[in-house]
Amino acid sequence: MIKFSLSCDRNHIFDSWFESNQAYETLVSKKLLTCPICNSNHVNKNIMAPNIVAKDKPVEKETTAVAQKESIDLQKPQSKFEEKLMTLKKEIEKNSEYVGKKFAEQARMMYHSDTKKKSIHGEASLKEAKELLDEGIPVTPLPWPLISDTN
Ligand SMILES: [Zn+2]
Repeated sequence: MIKFSLSCDRNHIFDSWFESNQAYETLVSKKLLTCPICNSNHVNKNIMAPNIVAKDKPVEKETTAVAQKESIDLQKPQSKFEEKLMTLKKEIEKNSEYVGKKFAEQARMMYHSDTKKKSIHGEASLKEAKELLDEGIPVTPLPWPLISDTN
């Protein structure tokens, strides 16, 4: 059995157990996997940060080896998973602008204005994120903490 964290197209997040990754894929392809909150069958696997605290080993040095891989396989060892997460993080940070604590404000302004939409990431409280979602503004939680505690 394997546990995946899933989210639907309305950003509801829930956990589900599957016999295997294959079983998950089958359910998704047949649209049999639905969100328990809104019944949407647009469900995707969530990328979660593994619950590992160890920070004393460098994760950077092997990231290039996995950059070509497209899908994230949760059954792989977690070090590989961490590498992929780092790659993903770099991609997002490269392609979107960091707006820090002004995230909610910026997202709302962009959503309601006619200016060119761009990708931003930043910090928002749960309450702010929920308000944005309620207004129909698409926000997605990032699977890693934005504030780095490294020196
Ligand atoms: Zn849902």
